[in-house]
Formats: sequence, C-alpha cells, structure tokens
Amino acid sequence: MRRFERKRAIFANKDALRESYQPDSIEERDEEIEAYMDALQPVVDGWEPNNVFLYGNTGVGKTAVTEYLLSLLQDDVEEYDDVDLSVVSLNCKPLSSSYQVAVELVNELRPDGGEISTTGYPQQTVFNKLYEELDEVGGTILLVLDEIDAIGDRDELLYELPRARSKGDLEDAKVGIIGISNDFKFRDQLDPRVQDTLCERELQFPPYNAQELTNILSSRAEIALREDTYDEAVVRLCAALAAKDRGSARQALDLLLLAAEQAENGDDDRVSERHVEAARHELERERVEEGIRQLTQHGHLALLAVVSIAAEGDTPGRSRAIYDRYLDICDGYGVDSLAQRSVHNHLSDLRMLGILTARENRSGSRGNFYSYELDVPLESALTALEDELDMQQRFSDLRTVATMNEVR
Ligand code: ADP
Ligand code: MG
Repeated sequence: MRRFERKRAIFANKDALRESYQPDSIEERDEEIEAYMDALQPVVDGWEPNNVFLYGNTGVGKTAVTEYLLSLLQDDVEEYDDVDLSVVSLNCKPLSSSYQVAVELVNELRPDGGEISTTGYPQQTVFNKLYEELDEVGGTILLVLDEIDAIGDRDELLYELPRARSKGDLEDAKVGIIGISNDFKFRDQLDPRVQDTLCERELQFPPYNAQELTNILSSRAEIALREDTYDEAVVRLCAALAAKDRGSARQALDLLLLAAEQAENGDDDRVSERHVEAARHELERERVEEGIRQLTQHGHLALLAVVSIAAEGDTPGRSRAIYDRYLDICDGYGVDSLAQRSVHNHLSDLRMLGILTARENRSGSRGNFYSYELDVPLESALTALEDELDMQQRFSDLRTVATMNEVR
C-alpha cells in the first residue's frame, strides 16, 4: 500500500509563493526602479559606483528589486569590455557586528578552503584582509548588505569601507555599497559622517496599497495555482488584509499560500474566502505566539494583567489599573512584583510587538496617562500565555469571564 500520494489539486507551482522565489518581473515599482537605475548608472559608465541605501518595512520588495536589477545590470554591462563587474551579496540578519560582516565578506570572496576563522582577529586586521580580497578581485564591486540594521550600532565598517579608496587602502577595486534596511531608525542612528557617504543615494520603498498588492499577487497566483482553483475575490481579500496591516507583499503571499494549503488539506477543489480567513487567523496566532514566547516572566504577567481586564470587557485599561491587577496576579502566583516603572516598560515592549495598543490620555492638571488594550484576539493571547505560565485554574476562570462578557 502506498503511504505517500501526490496531491496536486490546487498548486501548479507552490514554490512560486515562497520566500526564495525570484519573480521574472517586478510590478508596481516603476518609480523606485527608475531612481535605483539612475543610482547604478556610474557602474555602466565605468566610474566609481554610488553608495546606495534602501529602506522600507519588510516585504515591500527591497530584496526582490535589488536582485532583479543587479542581474539585469550584470547582463547588460557584459557589452562593455572596460567594465568588470562583480556583485557580492550578504544577508546580515544573523550577524550582529561590523566584525562579523567583514569576516563573512572575506570568506565569500576567498576561494574555498581559504576561509578565515570567525573570531580571534583584531577588527582592523579583518578590514585589511577585506581590502586585500577586494583588490584581488578588482574592477567594479557592488557589495549588497541586506538587512544591515542587524549590526545595530556596531557599524564601524560602514564608516571605513566608503573611505577605503580615498585613504589608499583600496587600489584596484571600485567598491559600491548597497545597504538595505527594514528599519528606518537605523539610518537616523548612524553617525552623520556615515550617513553622508553610505546614504549617497537614498531610496525609500513605501508600503504597498491594496491595489498594488492585488496586482503583485495576481501575477504570482497565475504561476502558483492551477486554473479554476481560485478567483479574483480571493486574491483581493489577501491583498486587502495585507494592505490594512503592513502593506507587505510577503504577508499577502503568505496568506495566499496558507489559504491554498487549507483548501488542499480540506480536499476542497477551490480556494475560498473562508480559507483566507482561516489563514489569517493562523498567521496572527503564529505572530502572537512568537512574540509572547520572547517575553520574560514579568512580561507574561503584565500581559496577563491586561488580558484579565480585557476578559471583563474593561479595556482600554489605565496603566494604574493594570499595575494593580499585575500586583494581584503576582501575589496569587507567588512571585515578587516589580515596580510600576518596570511594568510600564514591559507594556511598552508588548506594544512594540504589536500585541497591545496604547493611547496617551490627557487629564488636565493631573498630567498624562497611558491606557492599553489588546491588539490581538483574546483567545490567541490566552493560548500563548497558557503555554508559558503554570496557572490552569486562572485560565479556565478567565475563559468563563470572557464568555460571560461576550469578549473574544
Ligand atoms: P523586502 O526585501 O522589502 O523585505 P522582498 O523583496 O523579500 O521584501 O519581497 C517579499 C516578497 O514579495 C518576495 O517574494 C518578492 O518576490 C515579492 N514582491 C515584493 N515586491 C514585489 C513586486 N513589486 N513585484 C513582484 N513581487 C514582489
Ligand atoms: Mg529583504
């Protein structure tokens, strides 16, 4: 008997919805592409390249547009014998300092077997090795540093590298840096001297609106899904949900992928809006659980305080009321409580994670105060917290209270 059987009722090419897929064409980014091409023009002309800095939320096409344009550029400069272009791309997400980025770059440039160890050198030594390798390659070199915000304030390389040529550290190579950041604040936090050189050309990628996401998603759905397994309404719903949230194409693609999987698992022959709804819940739950897992115990307890007020239908709750509830909970749980100030910091973290929303209220002479409410379904927060905190009775009571108050 066969245990594995091919299921291909819905997907024609599932890979087309995944992160690694490189689309043949880019939709809806004509203006950005034009500005980007303009910034890259010196490469074609044989001059020193500009340093380019791209920023925008995750999923707005920064990586896709970069890969697309650099591959066009590499093809097109073949025509000019005096341009010898190399592109080195590095995703900095797992790296947390200039040192680590420099080591990775050296190892990417060195032939197999010649890699250097990732620790143990003075930083300047690694930078010098990098200059040597770059000069060895020679010609025009574009270094793509994707998700560069991962290095935080350990950003010396971004100061050094753009100056290496004028300082004489680089002789043969004309190096251009393409820095990509998901975090707009990263740019502002850079030393002004780094800003001037690294951000020679700045490109901002705004979030997509629903119409743009619909077009991006339609093109992708045509490749990924079989004909007659979905209709426009499904694509539009995924696009609308993603537009309302963060304007991310990644999110829209994930919704469609999960919705189609739901259809396939349920042996339905069409993807429906019901499947998209289910997919949305699934993604939301993953996001919340992921965020909640990262919290410390007092983060969990502070969230539980908001959750228990929410179950009573009393949110937004003032920070004072949340703190009182938190003290209660700590008491019942048998842990020492933190000062109000620290609990406030936990509430801010929860807000940054998108689990709470906060409002600042003005109350005349008594100054301002914050009030908080859940930004995720109550049940998602309860489920995630339940895994972290050992208080079964409390959770079943909370569910009863929430049901009585018709809170969901
Ligand atoms: P970022 O790097 O800004 O986080 P990505 O470039 O990884 O975003 O884009 C996320 C996903 O959406 C990728 O699968 C990408 O192919 C797709 N995508 C984003 N923008 C476009 C676009 N304008 N046209 C076609 N596909 C796009
Ligand atoms: Mg990216």
